[in-house]
Amino acid sequence: EVTEREAVQSEALATLHRVFGYDAFRGEQEAVIEHVVSGGDAVVLMPTGGGKSLCYQIPALVRPGTGIVVSPLIALMQDQVDALRALGVRAGFVNSTQDFDERRTVEAEFLAGELDLLYLAPERLRLDATLDLLSRGKISVFAIDEAHCVAQWGHDFRPDYLTLSVLGQRWPDVPRIALTATATHATHQEITQRLGMPDARHFVASFDRPNIQYRIVPKADPKKQLLSFLRAEHEGDAGIVYCLSRKSVEATAEYLSKNGIEAVPYHAGLDAGTRAAHQSRFLREEGLVVCATIAFGMGIDKPDVRFVAHLDLPKSVEGYYQETGRAGRDGLASTAWMAYGLQDVVQQRKLINMGEGDEAFRRRASSHLDSMLALCETARCRRAQLLTYFGQEAPESCGNCDTCLTPPETWDGTVAAQKILSTVVRLDRERRQKFGAGQIIDILLGKRTAKVIQFDHDQLSVFGIGEELAEAEWRGVVRQLLAQGLIAVEGEYGTLVLTEESGSVLGRQREVLLRKETKPAAAPRARRSR
Ligand code: ADP
Ligand code: ZN
Repeated sequence: EVTEREAVQSEALATLHRVFGYDAFRGEQEAVIEHVVSGGDAVVLMPTGGGKSLCYQIPALVRPGTGIVVSPLIALMQDQVDALRALGVRAGFVNSTQDFDERRTVEAEFLAGELDLLYLAPERLRLDATLDLLSRGKISVFAIDEAHCVAQWGHDFRPDYLTLSVLGQRWPDVPRIALTATATHATHQEITQRLGMPDARHFVASFDRPNIQYRIVPKADPKKQLLSFLRAEHEGDAGIVYCLSRKSVEATAEYLSKNGIEAVPYHAGLDAGTRAAHQSRFLREEGLVVCATIAFGMGIDKPDVRFVAHLDLPKSVEGYYQETGRAGRDGLASTAWMAYGLQDVVQQRKLINMGEGDEAFRRRASSHLDSMLALCETARCRRAQLLTYFGQEAPESCGNCDTCLTPPETWDGTVAAQKILSTVVRLDRERRQKFGAGQIIDILLGKRTAKVIQFDHDQLSVFGIGEELAEAEWRGVVRQLLAQGLIAVEGEYGTLVLTEESGSVLGRQREVLLRKETKPAAAPRARRSR
């Protein structure tokens, strides 16, 4: 006798073969699909390229009704729908790029039960008209793509996502699946909470990309460094070079072309025709390099990208991971190479300080930058650092990143770490107040700033015990402690707090090894108090 579970499994597998032409499920796909087809809610954390789409597309095909996919990537909807239609899946989308008639047609198809999948932009679900429409049709599953957009602490926050909890309230019997590639543990919790999915089962795939070699070099003459890297290791390979500005995208593409490496630019300032032409050349040709701003890459699925290079520092570890993750989807050896320098830090701090957004936004951007800097400065295995950042188990060393291959010079920072940690302890325990890195460093340096005087911090026994290091060096130490999880940043004020690991440093059970700050990696002098 066939159990219900076996029936679900075999129907899912049959759909995989028949519709998508694949032999087998990958990783967690089968478990996710079985759970959702059976009516359960799911939160799926899978890296980019991991195969999230099938996790909702197959339930939408197997269950009766239309699968509603909420996605913020309006620019990709047309492509996604075209790709599905080419496979014979009845798919449609509704977003702001359509005119009234197009929208009416899709809505009519939905109401007639003629759609397997309907893609919607999140802002549409704010409209009563959309909710009314949905309640007049039959829905098989709600898929909430890029679910980290609901996290206010995250780097992609979209207010429209906050309204999505309404789906669970209005359609309690329709399973929901939230998917994301970028979620730290905190973001993951926030997704569950804000989308109102307390009973969802969580599926967490490994974020490790063992075939990608991570390397971060001090920036001197970036274009030249890039050229010699490519000549030495990636002659004739397809790859992506990310730059921050359109100007440097253009300049880099031109420089590579002049030096015999075929490269084209891609950024939002180019007209749509040129962009589409460059993108399709990249997908079609074997050894083309695309120099691009981060506008390039979303939804690009080219398996044989052999390298991703960053000439400028990404704004966050999430961004870095996502961009480097476009390399080596075929599983073959690939390189994630980045040139990183002092100027990057100065520039990004400036951008944050001058940028729009309120104080909370600035603090968030700044803490994302700190995590990125920590990855750049770590003396630890880069892969271990990345995996820890995403809340995943990590090996001590991976053997396939620059720090594992050529261990950096380190110094014994145990005493420095103890000085910082004991200052945090004293502020927290004796004064019941928490402070950011700035105040703690001022105390260690024995600076009588207004804020130090105001809180009587010059009376603390730790006042002035850290004069052997300069302010910039202390900042480096703090960032590295953050990176190693020996201290943590809390709340919207960026206050420093102890972690479970801090005790072992204070109790001298463990040594703290810090990476020697090479010149380009040194922190900028942001403020001079006098
Ligand atoms: P994500 O949304 O997680 O970034 P996608 O769903 O776009 O990933 O899948 C990435 C690529 O992997 C796509 O080309 C997809 O067709 C392919 N893929 C996904 N699942 C399988 C599978 N089980 N077998 C073969 N290829 C798969
Ligand atoms: Zn490593």
